[in-house]
Amino acid sequence: VAPDCRGVGTFDIRPFEPPGDVAQLRADIRAFIAEHAPKAEDAALRANCWAVGDAAFSRALGQAGYIGMIWPRQYGGHERHPLERYVVLEELLAAGAPVGMHWIADRQTGALLLRYGTEEQRQRFLPRMAAGELYACIGMSEPNSGSDLASVRARAVREGDGWRISGQKTWTTNAHNAQLMIALVRTEEGSERQNGLTQFLIEMDQPGVEVRPIIDLTGGHDFNEVFLDDVYVPDTMRVGEAGAGWSQVTAELSLERSGPERYLSSYALLTELVRLAGSNPAPRLAELIGEITARLMTIRQMSMSTAAKLAAGEDPVLEAAVVKDLGNGFEQWMPRAVQAVVDADLSGRDDFARILSVLLQVSPSFSLRGGTREILRSIIARGLGLR
Ligand SMILES: Cc1cc2nc3c(=O)[nH]c(=O)nc-3n(C[C@H](O)[C@H](O)[C@H](O)COP(=O)(O)OP(=O)(O)OC[C@H]3O[C@@H](n4cnc5c(N)ncnc54)[C@H](O)[C@@H]3O)c2cc1C
Repeated sequence: VAPDCRGVGTFDIRPFEPPGDVAQLRADIRAFIAEHAPKAEDAALRANCWAVGDAAFSRALGQAGYIGMIWPRQYGGHERHPLERYVVLEELLAAGAPVGMHWIADRQTGALLLRYGTEEQRQRFLPRMAAGELYACIGMSEPNSGSDLASVRARAVREGDGWRISGQKTWTTNAHNAQLMIALVRTEEGSERQNGLTQFLIEMDQPGVEVRPIIDLTGGHDFNEVFLDDVYVPDTMRVGEAGAGWSQVTAELSLERSGPERYLSSYALLTELVRLAGSNPAPRLAELIGEITARLMTIRQMSMSTAAKLAAGEDPVLEAAVVKDLGNGFEQWMPRAVQAVVDADLSGRDDFARILSVLLQVSPSFSLRGGTREILRSIIARGLGLR
């Protein structure tokens, strides 16, 4: 902290390299991707690929030990170093592999169960998640509760050994494929709105759960509305203490916000741009590739530093918000910057045109999912002691 900044909060991000022995791992995962990733019939599927799912690929990844990499072996995990997992994730994303089926289970639901779940929940769900066969979706947002998450209205009422849950969730990514939702619901009215929230695991195939698709403006079906109508959930499916849901989702959001998916959603475009530029690029193109690469490498260092903090058991809420805000800004800026320099026919079917065209349409959502830019900046301001 600079001397004149003492007393003001700051964030702590240091250059960080993964452990020295990851070269072999990087080669292994590249070979695995070359062998197992399906050849996308539309190159646009390589962009924003963590929203693209393929059950067979997830199962193959699970069998090869690339899901649940840092979880204990007794739950189907592989006890690898968190930064080894980071290397695998960035290789998958950089290659545009379809990781959307298992992404949420691997990134946050599994970690949540390890931290707050019961032994029975861990034994029941984690091995199938690690095998790439059990997928999860996140039931936080509701029609009138997005940024203001503490205002969720879905309710759980005690009944015998369980709870009856009613309410509506929305923007629920992959709910149409997931077998399990981790839902944040109100179990008690309190003077503080953050109190009285609880997380439950809800099996998606049970009576009272209805999933309705929401089609986005590219015609894609990634997210959904989920209606919960008097759904019975045994108390054994409660995650953590009743009423402790707020602090649990806050911890979960640190996992959700700082990973490589927060700056690599547009990476497929960089690959195509380099291909297009060839060995003797025009000066404006060379300059743009240089700028993209410099920004990318800086954000990567920040994201890896935050991953190292998570690995050390810290809760870097502030750093994760900084990484997500800068990362989303970068991956949104890239398609527009490329469009300004390259005279592309966006209706073209070639890989470059398809990837650019889709990214121009979907990238506005990058700074909404996982918490909007304004909300992240208010978290940053609070973390720095500025509000
Ligand atoms: C692609 C995608 C996938 C998603 N997947 C999921 C999912 O799987 N599960 C899930 O639960 N949710 C999911 N979401 C929902 C996402 O978390 C919400 O869209 C987001 O939190 C914003 O909530 P909202 O849409 O209700 O907007 P609102 O909260 O209504 O915000 C509207 C605008 O007002 C601004 N605003 C709101 N409050 C403030 C404030 N206090 N100060 C300043 N500005 C403010 C916001 O920044 C935003 O610009 C997804 C969203 C997208 C786009």
